[in-house]
Amino acid sequence: MSEKINLLNLNQQELEELVISLGMKKFYGKQIFNWLHQKIVRDLNEITNLSLKDRELLSEKAYIPFLNLLKQQVSKIDKTEKFLFKLEDGNTIETVLLRHKDKRNTLCISSQVGCPVKCAFCATGQDGFVRNLDVNEIINQVYTVERRLTKQGSNINNIVFMGMGEPLLNLSNVLKALDILSNENGINISKRKITISTSGIVPNIEKILLEKLPIELAISLHSAINAKRDMIIPVNRSYPLEDLYAILQEYQRQTKRRISFEYIMINDFNVSDIDANALADFVHEFDHVVNLIPYNPVAGTEFERPSEKKIEKFFTFLKDVRKVNVTLRREKGTDIDGACGQLRQKAPKK
Ligand code: SAH
Ligand code: SF4
Repeated sequence: MSEKINLLNLNQQELEELVISLGMKKFYGKQIFNWLHQKIVRDLNEITNLSLKDRELLSEKAYIPFLNLLKQQVSKIDKTEKFLFKLEDGNTIETVLLRHKDKRNTLCISSQVGCPVKCAFCATGQDGFVRNLDVNEIINQVYTVERRLTKQGSNINNIVFMGMGEPLLNLSNVLKALDILSNENGINISKRKITISTSGIVPNIEKILLEKLPIELAISLHSAINAKRDMIIPVNRSYPLEDLYAILQEYQRQTKRRISFEYIMINDFNVSDIDANALADFVHEFDHVVNLIPYNPVAGTEFERPSEKKIEKFFTFLKDVRKVNVTLRREKGTDIDGACGQLRQKAPKK
């Protein structure tokens, strides 16, 4: 059996080329794109303005993929929802829906199965790396949840690449997914409402800069001291803080966009006054926001969350003494391990 074309891997231009190759008029490409990405149909037969013959022609060559929902958990505390999806090859990924008080919704999506960066504190990193997600698997996380929300009279407003994987190590698929998700003829989520979170893959931050994408950038900093950052984020050995600092300065000079720095607080590791001063010195020259996140303990690691008192002290020191623009993020969905960055492949593969 020759493999059918996965329609959600195609951008609008590629879809136009496909319909032309099937002997259909080019403008059908734009229409089908709209059915796939804005109306989010799951079956080619729902594309009612195509003739039966054209639908048959299309279904012989191509198909609309779907993610198999294996498990859904809803937090009793804050209604955060976690979805476990099965991919066509049997691998699984997780996606988290964060509901805000103002009725807006943020979807936290995965970019890889596992993660090659292997940060010492991260659940995803512990499982090793399996593979990059394809474009259709990235955008279908959004569409599957959007379809459910639409039925509740709601929708996805923001997307964050803070699920499983390092988005900047799956750059071409992530860029193509961004292009499709922000297409006005599709779901039309502006790039300004999409955040890419990275452990600091410096050459690929540079590539994002060259592409001039108006996305939000979040840097997982976690320590502003090289020797410590080396211990928890192995890529720091290849791209140390000086290199990260230099590219981010350039990024901000060119884009004028605020940069978010994520900082998980780990007990007896990165929450002393020395750590706070290093952090404050690092972010000082940036238009910045620092998001402090109390560490969520992960089985198999020795890291712990600091006491409330230490958390408060670190936060107030940064805010009041060092005048850092800092927020203390209370993580969501703790009862379902729903916090972004706590995702791991729990179901057996295949
Ligand atoms: N790979 C990217 C994006 C996914 S991780 C990155 O590292 O930025 C998303 C966020 O969750 C990162 O800031 C990550 O450091 C954080 N995180 C990972 N494990 C965590 C844990 N156990 N508790 C709290 N935050 C965690
Ligand atoms: Fe990968 Fe991010 Fe986890 Fe590090 S924190 S292992 S980069 S997913």
